[in-house]
Amino acid sequence: MTNELNENKKVTKFIEDFLAGKANLRNFDELGKDGVEARRQALEKLIGKRLESISHYSLDVDRAMKRNIENMIGVAQIPIGVAGPLLVNGDLARGEYYIPLATTEGALVASVNRGCKAITLSKGARVKILDDKMTRSALFKVNSLEEATNLRDWIKANKDKIIEKTKETSRHLKIRDINVWIVGKNVFVRFEGETGDAMGMNMITIAVEHACSWIEKQTDTKFLAASGNMCIDKKSSALNTITGRGKTVVAEVTIPRNIVKTVLKTDPEKMVEIAYRKNLVGSALAGSYGFNAHFANIIAAIYLATGQDAAHVVEGSQGFSLMEMEGDALHASVTIPAIQVGTVGGGTGLGTQREALELLGVAGGGEPAGANAKKLAEIIGSAVLAGELSLVGALAARHLGKAHQ
Ligand code: NAP
Repeated sequence: MTNELNENKKVTKFIEDFLAGKANLRNFDELGKDGVEARRQALEKLIGKRLESISHYSLDVDRAMKRNIENMIGVAQIPIGVAGPLLVNGDLARGEYYIPLATTEGALVASVNRGCKAITLSKGARVKILDDKMTRSALFKVNSLEEATNLRDWIKANKDKIIEKTKETSRHLKIRDINVWIVGKNVFVRFEGETGDAMGMNMITIAVEHACSWIEKQTDTKFLAASGNMCIDKKSSALNTITGRGKTVVAEVTIPRNIVKTVLKTDPEKMVEIAYRKNLVGSALAGSYGFNAHFANIIAAIYLATGQDAAHVVEGSQGFSLMEMEGDALHASVTIPAIQVGTVGGGTGLGTQREALELLGVAGGGEPAGANAKKLAEIIGSAVLAGELSLVGALAARHLGKAHQ
């Protein structure tokens, strides 16, 4: 009881100090887990309003505070719906899946659900991962062109030794290539490699920093930053659209005319035309790398549900959604150059996120390592295909406005 009183006094003191400007939000960390409540209460007092909804959660605060968040005050809740079953014929994902989608956009889940139905009735989505690599490009600053070319040549000659260095910080990281670009007095050194079941950004950044500090010592050049934006992370780019980042996924399906008619309420020819004029011509006119109807909607909803880094929706929004006639049937495909996902690390171990991964049968490390992350990427590719079919179908049938009403 005395202890409890002391604890309460301590919390009150922190709140008073904060309101008096003698303590900042970080100082609440000294209270450990109680700091979350105390920090929120301090803010409530400051704004004169209760933050009731933010205060209710089932999340493991210790875990979140250690790995995922600073200055925590509670949680943001997003409803999760499921679309499916979705029949997937991948190399790793085989069978019917229920897709968890965290969103506040009404009609999105229903729309993806409709696409899943069209695919499942049409013998499923065929899906493959074309490439799998996370990238990080370090930046060196040099004093002359000669120094730049010397550094490039040294890196080329010592590639194997540099790769050995990257193995010192991670068990699962497998760097397979290092490329160099010179721009004036800047040398960009881009590492690419597989990261097992982790999305891999922390893993590769730690390894690149370690290896480049070693290169700096060996070559007497200035290692300026672990990221020089040739990675390129969380920004839209031609580079990622062309060469891919994370998992590069293609999913396709052939939908018989009668299924287009009964499920999507339109004709294959109309969908082909919309896909061409909207996804290709319209996107080209806009200068977009997203030659698709709405990859980002499905990618964002699955990333949020399964604990992925939401900022990677930027790259996930890029890619091609194509439709053409195959005899009397509709052939639809999505080519997604950059699906950056993991089933370990990041936010994937938090309660609801892990359960969403369990729903898909991909939680945790795969056997062999990397299998779960690849399986997840195949499922995501197939779900994106479902989303494209439904939206293009709705546009072709002129149902979009009605669906959102
Ligand atoms: P991480 O949680 O930092 O690393 C994954 C960990 O899981 C590693 O310690 C790895 O060990 C271990 N692991 C165990 N089993 C594994 C398996 N089967 N496959 C792969 N790893 C396994 O996660 P991350 O994916 O590298 O980074 C994700 C986080 O990075 C996210 O929170 C994201 O928001 C953040 N992020 C960071 C940066 C940055 O610049 N640092 C940029 C963007 C995003 P080993 O390493 O020994 O293999």
